[in-house]
Amino acid sequence: MDRVYNFSAGPSMLPLEALERAGAEITNYQGSGMSVMEMSHRSKVFQKIFDDTQEKFRKALKVPEGYKVLFLQGGASTQFSAVPLNLIGKTGRADYAVTGNFAKLAWKEAQKYGEISVAATSEDQNHTYIPAQSQLKLDPQASYFYYCANNTIYGTEWQYVPETGEVPLVCDMSSNILSRPVDVSRYGLIFAGAQKNMAPAGLTVVIIKEELAGKELPYTPLMLGYKTMIDKDSMYNTPPCWCIYMLGLTLDWVESQGGVEGMERIKHGKAKLLYDVLDDAKLFTCAAQVGSRSDMNVTFRSVSEELDAKFVAEATAAGFTNLKGHRNVGGMRASVYNAMPVEGVEKLAEFIRKFDREN
Ligand SMILES: *Cc1c(COP(=O)(O)O)cnc(C)c1O
Repeated sequence: MDRVYNFSAGPSMLPLEALERAGAEITNYQGSGMSVMEMSHRSKVFQKIFDDTQEKFRKALKVPEGYKVLFLQGGASTQFSAVPLNLIGKTGRADYAVTGNFAKLAWKEAQKYGEISVAATSEDQNHTYIPAQSQLKLDPQASYFYYCANNTIYGTEWQYVPETGEVPLVCDMSSNILSRPVDVSRYGLIFAGAQKNMAPAGLTVVIIKEELAGKELPYTPLMLGYKTMIDKDSMYNTPPCWCIYMLGLTLDWVESQGGVEGMERIKHGKAKLLYDVLDDAKLFTCAAQVGSRSDMNVTFRSVSEELDAKFVAEATAAGFTNLKGHRNVGGMRASVYNAMPVEGVEKLAEFIRKFDREN
């Protein structure tokens, strides 16, 4: 089989250039005589991969002085615990915006560690929208304000950065990191699992304002303390070496596409192609409300579950895979992360148009 257009929500497509480079270097990395998978994380050759990747990441997102970039494990979900453990000690309170599945999981987990308020929720309309700034109920005593920038399952995305005054912003950017420029200086902490827009599963990137670290609750597991990892430059223990290497290759590719500014232009064009076709179609409707639609995960449905199933089956046969929506939502979801080629989206758009005509 040829490579398919894989619309999976995660793990998802990686840039072909990155995969090919990894393939070419897989048994013997640049004359080292071994694979990156076989190297000591304390070796000079790996340290250089690590340092270069850190530098490329900082450059891509213009991470300012005073912030550390950590390469951790445990997936984004581990951060649901690490965030409150490390940050809630300040006042014992935090604000959460519950705009989807992962935000809700984070909100639930945080309740073990402090007094957690729902600053906003979109549950009243099945998470089809992002609350406006004016709808946020902000607690000035909150240790931090937590939100999820892109709701992978529901297909909604924050189009603004919440204004929370002195309260540090904490953001889960797992499914839209590197898809647009971010003013990191507005955040206290950003985290993202790698497997949507960066690298294979197994790496979690944390960007933390250094002054927030070192105030964790006393029973915080050593491995979940940001200070532990800051002090040891993410190498208290063995880091996810292969994933870090792959992130470096992805970042080279992002750079070749014009950096995150280039990614933003491209991804916006890709998403618009799909939304335009879906809005024109008579059989399909988009799940997310206009103004809250995600550029990364396009959620839609047809007029019946039977037709949804037919669409997914025919699309799969035509080489467009993993379009079935998440079990919580049903319908379809096309995840169009950075590595999905424009051509893949154009062909899917054409397929949707044809399906709409013929059914
Ligand atoms: C995928 C995803 C997660 C979960 O990531 P894991 O690495 O599997 O823990 C969390 N948040 C968002 C926004 C996601 O898209």
